[in-house]
Amino acid sequence: MNLCDVSTVKKIMARFNTGTKKSFGQNFLINQEIPYGIARESISYHSSVHKGKKSAVIEIGPGIGSLTSELCQVYDKVIAVEIDKTLIPVLEYTLGEHQNVKIINEDFLKIDLEGLFKKELDGYEVSVCANLPYYITTPIIMALLENARRENGTSRFTSITVMVQKEVAQRLCATCKKGDYGAITASINYYGEVKKLFDVSPDNFLPAPKVTSSVVRIELYSEPKYKVIDEKMLFDVIGGAFLQRRKTLLNSLSSAFPHISKEKISNIIENSGFDVSIRGEKLSIEDFCRLSDEFSRENNK
Ligand code: SAM
Repeated sequence: MNLCDVSTVKKIMARFNTGTKKSFGQNFLINQEIPYGIARESISYHSSVHKGKKSAVIEIGPGIGSLTSELCQVYDKVIAVEIDKTLIPVLEYTLGEHQNVKIINEDFLKIDLEGLFKKELDGYEVSVCANLPYYITTPIIMALLENARRENGTSRFTSITVMVQKEVAQRLCATCKKGDYGAITASINYYGEVKKLFDVSPDNFLPAPKVTSSVVRIELYSEPKYKVIDEKMLFDVIGGAFLQRRKTLLNSLSSAFPHISKEKISNIIENSGFDVSIRGEKLSIEDFCRLSDEFSRENNK
């Protein structure tokens, strides 16, 4: 069954009395080369890191299963989490021939990842792969990053390969020297490296979105590369630095930390080695780690 053939997609949807839902960000892939390419990009990195180990992938939003079936062919185990309950019987039908897939009807943002790992993924090296629904791209990536590390600090995920809007991909891949650098970019840099893989034009989807998409891969550090006194402080500082993009770091952090006087924040910035007139977008992840540790020291006084 070619799950990217438009007439097949329409027939399946009609047979199961369902249709594409805008509210769930449903744009299904209709060119088999794309899910094939995404799955290969995911497994090629995964296998290069974990040769010979049992491999698993978590797919967020399998839709009718076009990417899922490609993932089933390259990973030992596939966990597919779909929010739309009308697609569950569709997936059971379209993925019927694959024995290595587990379909879960849940909102990925509410899933108990810890429980999922214990129940389904013990003994597997795990990556994430998805054609993400545009309306919750950033919350999903942030949720993955927040859960990326085990208690002992090692990474739970080998990589996160996702299709997102091209503009979002540009933000994810930006650097502090140029591009659309923001809080999410700095946060990702703490956990790993991002690579842009390829663009996908709107005519590859049903229905066609208005914008071009891009596939990116976040390659997570297996052990923390950067160490900070307090991780929560780091993300508060990153968030605070970009709270008011057009303002200086000092003004933006003063709004984000109203309980600390502006004079103290000014000292913290200078003690970290920066000029008070600098903007948050000029700071690399190393710079943010240094700044965050100064905040932690001030907090612990
Ligand atoms: N993977 C399919 C493909 O590439 O053709 C579908 C991708 S479509 C862009 C996004 C999918 O994510 C839809 O199936 C949608 O129902 C699902 N979805 C949306 N929000 C979700 C959530 N919070 N948790 C899990 N799945 C979600």
